[in-house]
Amino acid sequence: MNMTYKDFDRYLKDYPNKEGFFGPYGGQYLPDELVPAFKEIDDAYETICHSAKFINELRRIRKEFQGRPTPVYHCERLSNYLGKCQIYLKREDLNHTGAHKLNHCMGEGLLAKYMGKKKLIAETGAGQHGVALATAAAYFGLECDIYMGEVDIAKQAPNVTRMKLLGARVIPVSKGLKTLKEAVDAAFEAYLNEYKDAIYCIGSAVGPHPFPKMVRDFQSIVGIEAREQFLEMTGNLPDAIAACVGGGSNAIGLFVPFLGDPVDIYGVEPLGKGAKLGDNAASMTFGKPGILHGFQSYLLQDEDGNPAPVYSVASGLDYPSVGPEHAFLHDVGRINYVSVSDDEAMDAFYKLCRLEGIIPAVESSHALAYAIRYAKEHETGSILVNLSGRGDKDMDFVVEKFGLGNDDGILKEESAKEFVADKYGLGDSFKEI
Ligand SMILES: *Cc1c(COP(=O)(O)O)cnc(C)c1O
Repeated sequence: MNMTYKDFDRYLKDYPNKEGFFGPYGGQYLPDELVPAFKEIDDAYETICHSAKFINELRRIRKEFQGRPTPVYHCERLSNYLGKCQIYLKREDLNHTGAHKLNHCMGEGLLAKYMGKKKLIAETGAGQHGVALATAAAYFGLECDIYMGEVDIAKQAPNVTRMKLLGARVIPVSKGLKTLKEAVDAAFEAYLNEYKDAIYCIGSAVGPHPFPKMVRDFQSIVGIEAREQFLEMTGNLPDAIAACVGGGSNAIGLFVPFLGDPVDIYGVEPLGKGAKLGDNAASMTFGKPGILHGFQSYLLQDEDGNPAPVYSVASGLDYPSVGPEHAFLHDVGRINYVSVSDDEAMDAFYKLCRLEGIIPAVESSHALAYAIRYAKEHETGSILVNLSGRGDKDMDFVVEKFGLGNDDGILKEESAKEFVADKYGLGDSFKEI
């Protein structure tokens, strides 16, 4: 089945179906003991997502606590430097806590409150999800247990401190490789014992139903705002939109409100060091269907069908699977999945710092790198990128590994002067530039 933008009128009503399937992907592959717990979440969400009280409360939180709407920004210097195609950013880096993750964490926290739960449980890898969830827990006055591999705890000290300052308990996991996968197992186990009083909060548009749907719904605010803002700024829709894909939450949030529009959509996967198994985390590009963490999707697998080791310079992107809705939209041909290497992403990182005064997250730099490629290949037009987060968390690592960057080829003062004069004329105040 192939779907064009004209086939998306009823999409949100039909996908996922009641069992949480997007075509063959998604579903709920759970140990029997956890089935009632997930059913409780599903029932609660289906009731609450239509409640005016819930929706209004979430609106108020977004506006007053998170600082939404985040702006859409036109990158004039970057666009001008590359050619004629115009690059725009949806500034999720300006969302409270510095990334898009808070959009679904606040939704999950509000759901927990409506369900009468006392505690939020989750795992975290690099710590970004843990910090966002700890923030939501503090806001709602809920307890928060974050499971984290011992190796990650040692690597991500600032995020561990943030979570603790926000009142969360960070529980070290010492099994296996002591990283994300073991942390997921530990969080599931804890949830099994505590689900009467606690709710499990997933960190992306992945996991057993209803999480991929719920996280998509909570993140859709990104695309809804961006679509309206872009129309208001330019009078048109963008020709293309792009977002990086780890588990796929920031991407699906931007994409869904544009599915019914004549807009080209690009999901950008991390190609890491290259195509070899273990050198990347491009699940859609190199994976095949399989089940991990309770849902069916594209999965990077070794010869025995086990989840393969993954790598990306961006720790938020190194997940061996991908949200089931992405797998579906890939197969029906509505979204293009492309990949960007570490090097290309880092080049984009430095360009945005130097040309626009914005330090992006290394994850988001992947989406930006694709926009730069697109701008070089297109004579005209526009591309809107989801800048999913800010790069403060990455600065030390980037500078240690790649240095401070240089200005090779970047528009410097002389040409900047010409650009300004060209565009605005030499007004009095510009003569002294
Ligand atoms: C976690 C993270 C991502 C990846 O997660 P998705 O669910 O794929 O969006 C991307 N960007 C930033 C800044 C992140 O923190």
